[in-house]
Amino acid sequence: MSTYHSLNNEEAISLAKSIPGIFSESTVLNCREIGDGNLNLVFHVTSENSTESIIIKQAVPYAKVVGESWPLSLDRARIERQSLEIQHRLCPDLVPQVYSYSDDLAYTAMEDLSEYTIMRKGLIDGNIYPNFAEHIGQFLARTLFFTSDLGMNQQEKKELAGRFVNPDLCKITEDLIFEDPYRASANNNYSASIEDEAEALRNDIPLHLEVALLREKFLTHAQALLHGDLHTGSIFVTTESTKVIDPEFAFFGPMGFDIGAVIGNLLLNYVAQPGWNQNGEDLTIREDRLLEMAKDVWTNFESSFRTLWNNEILDEMFQTPGYQDHYLTELLRDTAGFAGCKMIRRIVGLSHVADIDGIQDDSVREAAQRKALAIGKNLVRHNRSVNSIYDILKLVQLASTEIGVSK
Ligand code: ADP
Ligand code: MG
Repeated sequence: MSTYHSLNNEEAISLAKSIPGIFSESTVLNCREIGDGNLNLVFHVTSENSTESIIIKQAVPYAKVVGESWPLSLDRARIERQSLEIQHRLCPDLVPQVYSYSDDLAYTAMEDLSEYTIMRKGLIDGNIYPNFAEHIGQFLARTLFFTSDLGMNQQEKKELAGRFVNPDLCKITEDLIFEDPYRASANNNYSASIEDEAEALRNDIPLHLEVALLREKFLTHAQALLHGDLHTGSIFVTTESTKVIDPEFAFFGPMGFDIGAVIGNLLLNYVAQPGWNQNGEDLTIREDRLLEMAKDVWTNFESSFRTLWNNEILDEMFQTPGYQDHYLTELLRDTAGFAGCKMIRRIVGLSHVADIDGIQDDSVREAAQRKALAIGKNLVRHNRSVNSIYDILKLVQLASTEIGVSK
């Protein structure tokens, strides 16, 4: 019989005490539930003098943001924990360490990263993260390569994929990203001022075809173990360091979905900049920095991935001349398409981003929404003809000029 129930602060403290080697025996522990997320409870347990601390994240059997009417499997806690363990093994500096867990209680105790800032907030505040593109490029290259048929024994990969079947969380993505924005859905959420944009999305059949093709990849292309929700709210940063959290959407899917998530979210912050910085000169500097960062995410990913391919693959078929270039071009195209889908859904779909929704001025916010949609649609429409990261930047630029803004 399952012992599952949602934890209270006292229980979180007892669990924390039972983990060997974290807290000294005699110390008094304090606990606060700090989850700002949509789906789970997050307990922050600290020693009295705050020198030692841990995080305990527990899944609840429904989507917290919607309520008990939207049930979600508790198995996602196991999937998240096992992904964290795999990612930590592949990128020890870029993923928090797991200390203990219970599949029955659906919790994971892990390294506390409270010293870090959630990247979305850091970007809104205008902070600079000079190492981010390199770090996330490494994370993407290593986690995707070593869980794909390129970097794993192909039979073992199939076994592993079987442990990451994640229907409930995939369904959220399938509905919120690949369906709802393109139809009249009760899940959609946008202001009346952009009804014209929402209507255009519903009626754009060539766009629907591209979305259907990207959706098909998401549904069928079990290329590698994805993080599955790699937006800037799932990344903790300091100026020096980067840590990726929250892989509960992990499953075997198309690599470009993760890379596109990072780039799409940087572009969402890019379009939001006029709302966060009215000073003309700084604004241009910040916008250029964000575009540069988006480019660098891809270039860092690509060079790490090519190095892994050249050094780690034993399988001769993968060394066929031309294959690596073909593979990377396909990945870039998927990246463009998924980045576009991610941008579109954050404007008209259920769940938005603070980068844009937090803009106080209605007309500035609306301009950012329209720009995000223009870029998102351009990336989706043209994803299959992109050949270099510069083509993606051109599509961004083009969308911006089309809607009559300078960049
Ligand atoms: P959800 O899946 O519910 O969105 P997240 O994993 O994103 O949950 O966590 C929600 C919030 O809890 C994060 O935004 C962050 O503020 C806090 N949090 C989560 N993991 C940690 C951690 N390891 N260290 C510090 N804070 C954390
Ligand atoms: Mg989450």
